[in-house]
Amino acid sequence: MVSEEGRSVVINGERFRVYLDRETIERRVRDIADAISRDYEGKTPIFIGVLNGAFIFLADLMRHVRIDCEVDFLKLSSYGAERITSGKVRELKRIDADIENRHVIVVEDIVDTGLSMDWIMDHLAEHRPASLSTAVLLHKPDASRTKVSLDYVGFRIENKFVVGYGLDYAQVGRHLPDLYMLDPSGQ
Ligand code: 5GP
Repeated sequence: MVSEEGRSVVINGERFRVYLDRETIERRVRDIADAISRDYEGKTPIFIGVLNGAFIFLADLMRHVRIDCEVDFLKLSSYGAERITSGKVRELKRIDADIENRHVIVVEDIVDTGLSMDWIMDHLAEHRPASLSTAVLLHKPDASRTKVSLDYVGFRIENKFVVGYGLDYAQVGRHLPDLYMLDPSGQ
């Protein structure tokens, strides 16, 4: 259950405070869309959104892109009700599109350990795309356990759990327009 009290919310009994407001996110998403529109001019890239967390970022990003583009989705196993990664990646939904010789941009909500993105890049590379790049809204560099290279990054953030703007806590909180960070004091 989510209860909103000004700039904080309580989800599953834990308090989160606003960390990035919707205007700040929107400005950054526009910047990334501008960069993609420049870098892929004359091409028709295909965005591969990673469900479920990336759906809001992807929708906003695509609406600001000014070149022809396509979209498809894949889904990996989530953290379930935990806030800590199990370190294991499992594919729950495959892409439907044929990406051979296509310009592919993987769109993720957040790169934490990097294990998911590492797996995705290896997996998609097997389909022999013309190019493969990444657009991620959030990156936690201090949590990184891989050397995955990220091409478009919205924000580099502290190694703390966040919800909102598509990101959940045990499936709750995705609808929140701002991004919230766990407040360890809980006050
Ligand atoms: P990684 O494989 O990089 O450790 O984790 C990637 C996935 O873990 C993300 O797509 C996201 O679903 C989830 N995740 C990582 N950190 C957070 C976080 O702070 N909040 C939420 N809601 N999900 C996270």
